This record gives sequence, C-alpha cells and structure tokens, in this order.
Amino acid sequence: MLKEIQKIIDENYDEMVSIRRYLHQHPELSFHEYNTAAYIADFYTDLDIPFIKDVGGNGIIATLKGGKPGKKIAFRADFDALPIKDEKDVSYKSKVDGVMHACGHDAHTASLLVLAKILKGFQKELPGTLVFVHQHAEEIPPGGANSIVKTGALDDIDAIFGNHFWATTEVGKIHTKQGSFMAGVDKLTIQINGAGGHGAYPHQTKDSIVIGSMLVTQLQTIISRRLDPLQTAVLTIGEFKSGSSFNIIADQAKLTGTVRYLDLDIQKQIINELERLVDGVAKTHDVEIILNYEKGYPPVINHPQETEMVLRAAQKVPEVNEAIEVNPQMAAEDFSYYLAHKPGAFFFTGAKKTKDSYPHHHPKFDIDEKALPIAAKVLIGAYFEAQNK
Ligand code: MN
Repeated sequence: MLKEIQKIIDENYDEMVSIRRYLHQHPELSFHEYNTAAYIADFYTDLDIPFIKDVGGNGIIATLKGGKPGKKIAFRADFDALPIKDEKDVSYKSKVDGVMHACGHDAHTASLLVLAKILKGFQKELPGTLVFVHQHAEEIPPGGANSIVKTGALDDIDAIFGNHFWATTEVGKIHTKQGSFMAGVDKLTIQINGAGGHGAYPHQTKDSIVIGSMLVTQLQTIISRRLDPLQTAVLTIGEFKSGSSFNIIADQAKLTGTVRYLDLDIQKQIINELERLVDGVAKTHDVEIILNYEKGYPPVINHPQETEMVLRAAQKVPEVNEAIEVNPQMAAEDFSYYLAHKPGAFFFTGAKKTKDSYPHHHPKFDIDEKALPIAAKVLIGAYFEAQNK
C-alpha cells in the first residue's frame, strides 16, 4: 500500500503546489488566521472527513479512522505567517502588504491537506487512525501547540510526527535527531534601579550604567565558567538602555536578553545562576535589581523510537538521498509541547532552492516545491512504521 500511496502523492503534486501558492498569497498573522482556518475546515468538509475546529484557538483537528485495527497517530502542520513584507518577484507573491509566509507553514499545510485527501481513498484498507493537527500560531509564544495539547484533544494518540521544510538544506535530505533537536528559548529582563546625579559627584549616586556593565560581563561567566563545557547554552544580552546625557549619572538601566538551551536541567541551572548573580551584584552595589525571567518554548526533544521510524520511512522514499541525524539547531519550535505530552519526532525536509535561496524569515524566503511530496511520503511512511511497532 505504501508504494501505491507514494505514486498517488506524485500524481497530486500540482494540487499540493496550487494550495501552497494560494495560501502563500493569503497569509495571516499568528492568532489571526481565521480565513486560513476556514479554508482548512472547508477542505475537510468537502472530503467528508470529520474534524473539530477552534481547538485551543484557531486550531483544527481532523480524524480519519481506518478500516483495520491499529495505532492512533497524529501529524502536525502549522499555518501562521509572519509580519514581513514579501519581496519576491513571483506570481504567487503575498497579496497582504507586510504579511508573508516566510517560514514555509503554507507548504506544511498544503502537503498535509493533500495527504489527507489521498488517504481518504484508502480508508477501508488503512490500519489505525490518522489525526491531522492543523496548528495556528507557531511563531509567537505562547503559541498554538500548548493550548491544543491542553484541550485534551490529543490525549488518546499513540504518537505524533511533524515536518518542517528547511530552506537551507538541499531537496532530498531528511534531517532529524534523537533527543534535543531544537533549542528551548526564554527571555530575560533586568531592571536596575540605581540613584542618579551629577556626573561630577559619583559618590552621591548609584551608577546604573556601571552596575549594568558589570552585570553584562558577569552574566557571560554563567556560560563560560558555570556550565559543564560539554553542555551548550546561549545567553545574549540584546538590549541595554540607560542614560540621558554625557554629564548625568544614570538613575536606571534596563537589559533584555535571550537564553537558549537544549536541556531542561540546563535551563534550571541558568535560572539559579542568574538569580544568585543578580542578587550578588545588587548587594555589592546596594541597589535594587529586578530580574524577570519569561519561559518560552521548551526544547524539541525527539523520542528515540519515533526518530528511528522517521529515518526508516525516509529511506523508503525514492527521492530521499540522505536520511540522517544532525546537530541540534538553536532555533525553537513549539512542536516541543506535543513531544512533552506524547511520543513523537520532528524532522526537517530539505527544500533549498537551487538558485535565489534565502533563509527562513527573510523577505525573499521561498522553498523548492519538489519538497512537498517528499514530506508527505515521509509522514505516511512513519505512520506505517508506527503501526508495526
Ligand atoms: Mn516555522
């Protein structure tokens, strides 16, 4: 049955492309994807596949129950776009000024919709149950995944698989990794409430710029001196705002930054070190320093067996010439919430254009559409692998 499904996926290539291009021309921002959700709902209505909508927001979950017993396996595709002006010169350029599918979520949706349509034709012969998770709002925390998981709609699935088209990896490559595959990302804000004054009389003040500067360099020692050198994390202070004039000692300073890590224990350690360090600097300089730590998406931690299923499935796709485990990425994805809830694996499908290739979130971002059927084939392959577990 797999070979036959693969063949029909190829025959439906044009429809995948036309759906992707339609969505590409009609992008909607995270949490505002009403028309996209309606488009997906109409698609399942026409297919006569039952679905629930407004799942945890604009999410849609369709369920196709096969005629034979087996496992219940979910696939996830996200469908939000970004606040970027589309600068490509193509016929399917965004029609919404300042909004663009610059991460390929249009293509995730198109390949999953057409896969659902094809599998409807195999319903009687299929073992188990397929669950198509169309997720809103991946781009902005708190994201759509966590709210979908919290509805309980995925409580009875056995596993979940997700694809991301990757515009910097060549077509024909499938990349994934057991364990931490993408980073967890948090935001920190540090407010220093010193005491301002005349630049000539520092002893009468608490100089927020001097204190803030010490803090910036001290914070780097968390990564360089406190973490095990074989562990990885990033701490970047991206913003340091303070001061008003050359001869005035600054009253206040505000620092903001990002923390990225691959392991929840590392996150815990960094938070502890941060609190201790900020506390210490505040005591040293006798000022108030307020640390606000906002947790974003946790790391994407793939389950070993499901990762193997993805790799085995990829090896059975004729167009795939490389299916391997790679180094983790320090970018983030809210697919992590599904993986914290149920077994599963997330993978990248190479979609790099041979010319005019730009990275994700770039105003000229685009993908090679030949990747669409490849991802659909890996997903259904993983489904069959999971049935045999
Ligand atoms: Mn994305």
